[in-house]
This record gives sequence, structure tokens and C-alpha cells, in this order.
Amino acid sequence: MLAKIELSVSKPSFLTWFQDTGITEVQNGVATVFVPNIFAKEWLQNKYHKTILHALRELTADVKDISYAVGKLDVPQGQALLHQSQKRKRFSPADASDEETLPMKELTVNPETNLNPRYTFDTFVVGSFNELAHAAAQSVIKNPGSGYNPLFIYGGVGLGKTHLIQAIGTELLRQSPGIKVRYVPSEKYMTEVVDALRNQEMNSLKDKYRTVDCLIIDDIQFIARTEKMQEEFFHMFNTLYQKNRQIIISSDRPPQAIATLEERLRSRFEGGMIADIGLPDFETRLLILRTKTETKKITIPEKVLMYIADSVKTNIRELEGALNRVVMAAKLSNTPIDEDAAKKIITSHINAPKKFLTAKKILKAISEFYDISEKELTAHSRKKDVVKPRQIAMYLMREELKFSYPSIGDRFGGRDHTTAIHSCEKIANNLKTNPELEEEIRMVKDRILLG
Ligand code: ADP
Ligand code: MG
Repeated sequence: MLAKIELSVSKPSFLTWFQDTGITEVQNGVATVFVPNIFAKEWLQNKYHKTILHALRELTADVKDISYAVGKLDVPQGQALLHQSQKRKRFSPADASDEETLPMKELTVNPETNLNPRYTFDTFVVGSFNELAHAAAQSVIKNPGSGYNPLFIYGGVGLGKTHLIQAIGTELLRQSPGIKVRYVPSEKYMTEVVDALRNQEMNSLKDKYRTVDCLIIDDIQFIARTEKMQEEFFHMFNTLYQKNRQIIISSDRPPQAIATLEERLRSRFEGGMIADIGLPDFETRLLILRTKTETKKITIPEKVLMYIADSVKTNIRELEGALNRVVMAAKLSNTPIDEDAAKKIITSHINAPKKFLTAKKILKAISEFYDISEKELTAHSRKKDVVKPRQIAMYLMREELKFSYPSIGDRFGGRDHTTAIHSCEKIANNLKTNPELEEEIRMVKDRILLG
């Protein structure tokens, strides 16, 4: 079963959440999964329950449900060893290279601070879409710890959150080389906490964070998935905050939109400065492309840059990606780039993800984004926090997949087609007057495209 799951989740997730789990018994159709600690229990329950159930059902149809129990798994020595050696083979460093690699890898991440030197202010283009976040960042650099604390930056995927918050860290270090800066993606922080608990090293982990002058924590929304993790984080946050240490946080949405975020954390986050990053306009996208070609020392006709800037609108990472593809194609064919060549390359790039958009993916993305189970989404509940996500899901199936209203109704527990029509119209109408909803739906779409 683990081998099956390993194929369907990311390597870090597998290592963190699954490798020390196992099934000890199946009784009356309920399989008991042993997990090393309470975090793993919550996480598996909340996030991977379905994955596990599916994997199990494929092996044995007898299993109807799963219960989770914290405890040690008694694996006979020989088996454990076999497992170990397989693991080593599967996770050899050699295959780490097929993971998403960032361009300019030669600039290595500093192991002390975890900062990537390529994220600096020199290469960060400022436009109206991110000027508030940029100004807040500058202010933090002037008064670390005593001005905006925490600084909370939010925005959609690929719009420069990681770049900006890391640039702050790098700049603070440049100003005062003696200070301790630490950048950590929240998922990594969670792994550290889980590991520390497993090895009874919680105190040394706490010490490690207690001494930091500037803590930068990326994609905080993941922490809200488990209560225990929020509690650990809350205590660490307070320790640093009380000592006037600078805390910088990023998220894909504002604190009030993180459904399961505890009130005490929310009010802490809201007590500092919250700044959003929106979408860059055409001029800014063009400027970003020009900046990138300058740093890469390549020349590309302005018309081609304009074409790229016009085609990729909502994600700076994709904007870069499109540029890279065009440059690469020109290099390979040893020809100068003209608009037609760029068009060909870009169109294939942009149209590719759409082909893979399915109703299943929409449901999955909505369920993850709003932290509602897919079952609840399609069921007949009228709970307020389910109604809107359900309407958005219907709306996306109509807009993106062109499903008929009856077939949309069918997918949501056999609802009548008039319900589907009503839902889609409601969202379409709200969109006209509510830019926040537009932003929200864009974030959901990003998530769908990311898979
Ligand atoms: P996020 O963390 O919001 O998903 P990233 O910070 O990873 O986004 O940015 C995605 C890519 O776009 C990175 O390669 C980054 O360098 C680039 N990028 C983002 N914002 C800007 C900007 N304002 N100017 C130049 N490059 C940017
Ligand atoms: Mg990021």
C-alpha cells in the first residue's frame, strides 16, 4: 500500500507523513493505521484519508474505513531492514535532480539562513500590483522588529511572495552581517517539528528558533491544517514577538480567508502589517521581461516581448517560463526569434494545461482550497461555508469545461439543473461587483493548474 501511495504523493510528503506508518490490523472492515505522533494523525486524517482508503481498497475490497492510532509499529527486524534498503534506493540523491529545478542553480542556497541569493531587490520589479508590499518590505528593512511586525504578505501563485520575503532577509543580512536570519517554508517547519517530536528534540528545535533575529515563514496557510501545529507555531511566534524579533509571513490568501486558522493566530497576524500582491499590468509584465533579458544578456525583439507579456497574465513564474522557452527554441534552432516563432511556442505552452482540466480536478482544488471534503461539496448540505465553494465549483465546470447544467446538477448529488443554473448565475453576477471573489476564483484556478 505504501508503494502505491508513494507514487501518488510528493517525495517530501511521503517521507514526512507515510514512511513511519503501517497497518497493524483489519477488523470488521476497519483498518488501523499506526502513526508516530498526533500531527501525523491529524494530517493523514485531514489530507490523505482518501488517498489511503483508495490505495487500500485496490488491494483488498474488505476495507470500508480507516482508523488512526498513535503508537509504535512493530515491524520484524528483517522486514524493517528490507524497507530501509528499498527506501535508500528509491530516494537516492541521483533522482533528486528530476525535481523542479530553478534556473540559475549555480547560486546556492545558504544552509544557515536558507536564503536563495538570486532573490534580491535588484531583480525585483515594482509596479502598482506590488508596490504596497514592496513599501512595507522597505519599511521593515529600515526598522526591523520595531515597525511592522509581523509583516504579512499575501497573493496568488507565482506573483513574487517568496522572492520578496527572501529579498528582505538578504537585505537585512547585508546591512547587519551579524544577525541571524532564517527562511523556512511552512511545510519544512512542520517537518522539523514532526522530526523533533519523533526524536525527542523539541527543546533544541525551540532553541534554534528562539535565537533568530528575523524569521521568514513562507506559505503559512499550510500550518492551519492541524491544530497541534498551530499551537507549536503560536508559542514560537510569541517568543520571538515578545523579544521584538522581526517576523515575516507569506500566504496565498489573507488571514481571514484561511478557514481553519485559529483566532489567536489570526489576530496576531492582523496586529502587524498586511499587504497584498495583485496582478501585474501589461506594462509591468513587459518591464519584468525586459529586466530578465537584460540579466541574461540576450536580445529579443520588443514585439516578441510584447507578445509574451500579452499572453501570460496571471503568473510571473509562467511569464519567465514562456520567455525561457522562446529563448531556448531560438538557441536550439540557431535562428533569431520573430513573432511567428514565439507565437507557436507560446500557444503550445498556454494551451497545454487546459487539456488536463477535469471536473475531478476542479472538485479536488475547491475541496483543498476551502478545506471541505469533496463529499460535503457534492452532498445536500446547506451549511453556509459549503454553499459558496459548491457554487464556485459549479461555475468553473460551466465556464471552463462547458458542461451542461443537467450534468453539473448530476455531479452534485443529483441536483436539479435549475439549481446549477442558479449557482452559476449567482457567481457570475457577484463577479461583476466583487473583485475579491474574482481574486478568490483566480487562486482556485491556479491551484487546479498546479494539480
Ligand atoms: P510566489 O512565491 O508568490 O509563488 P515567487 O516569489 O516564487 O512567487 O515568484 C515566481 C517567479 O517570478 C520567481 O522566479 C521570481 O523571481 C519571479 N518574480 C516574481 N515577482 C517578481 C518581480 N516583481 N520582479 C521580477 N521577478 C519576479
Ligand atoms: Mg512561494
